[in-house]
Amino acid sequence: MRAVVFQGKEQVAVGEVPPPSIQHPLDALVRVHLAGICGSDLHLYHGKIPLPPGSVLGHEFVGQVEAVGEGLVDLKPSDWVVGPFHVACGTCRYCRRGQFNLCERGGVYGYGPMFGNLQGAQAELLRVPFAQVNLRKLPPGLAPERALFAGDILSTAYGGLLNGRFQPGDRVAVIGAGPVGLMAVEAALALGASKVMVIDKVEERLRRAEALGAIPIHAERENPVRRARAETEDEGPDLVLEAVGGPATLALALEMVRPGGRVSAVGVDNAPTFPFPLASALVKDISFHIGLANVHRHIDSVLNLLASGKLQPERIVSHRLPLEEAPQGYALFDRKEALKVLLEVRR
Ligand SMILES: [Zn+2]
Ligand SMILES: [Zn+2]
Repeated sequence: MRAVVFQGKEQVAVGEVPPPSIQHPLDALVRVHLAGICGSDLHLYHGKIPLPPGSVLGHEFVGQVEAVGEGLVDLKPSDWVVGPFHVACGTCRYCRRGQFNLCERGGVYGYGPMFGNLQGAQAELLRVPFAQVNLRKLPPGLAPERALFAGDILSTAYGGLLNGRFQPGDRVAVIGAGPVGLMAVEAALALGASKVMVIDKVEERLRRAEALGAIPIHAERENPVRRARAETEDEGPDLVLEAVGGPATLALALEMVRPGGRVSAVGVDNAPTFPFPLASALVKDISFHIGLANVHRHIDSVLNLLASGKLQPERIVSHRLPLEEAPQGYALFDRKEALKVLLEVRR
């Protein structure tokens, strides 16, 4: 089958790889129609996370069931499905608590041996383990292009807001207007935020955020802390969602949030430590949450919001490319010349 294959640092190619097969009664094979290129794929692309050359990339997908193991009763061939980017078993102690992102048998598609050694989704066929837990059927009428976002960045943003104990009426600041940040803007407004501000340095991305209903704040042309206070009756945002990752933006989030406010960090970075501002956080009485997305927990709510049209994340798609043009897609996305790239695996 055709698939996007990692070859080495900043080198991806589209080539032939052996197709997956059903290995367990709870496996399903999915014929992928659309696959996304995610910001976290760029960590692999840049060699920041070890991945053996020849590995298939990708963890965002939507498609149709091709085959099911004998233990699956609710899925059948031709069902349209989407699934979380990370897999969970559904039965370990963490899954039983609903902490699917901590599953003891979990992993991430296309993320190599450190993350469960699962084949990636930028491929014609994807093997999904524990498919009764890791696939959802698309609600009737929901377009695949829209549904794809439930598997990763939209549910990540939605979960990040809930981790920050989002409440309707909140004044929310989102740091980073990349794909996850823009998803957070959409989700916060759909959930009833009274105001959403977005902080970034890329003019084009700020314009996108503004078009979705956010107040754009340019991090270099003005002081973002002062501006966020000015937008909130001289208080600061109730909730700051940090969607970049790294010490500088975490520090900004903690400085910006109002006394008694909440900071939720979903950005991914591999800085090992971060100087936490202990004294000011103590005095300000801040709640701070950091963690990777728990997509299984939110995907059904997110699919309902997508089916109702309250969320329209496909508006951020800047490029739809045939699978064969995946190398260009990675390069464009890496240079921030593309906001969201979808690969048309099946046309
Ligand atoms: Zn991702
Ligand atoms: Zn589990």
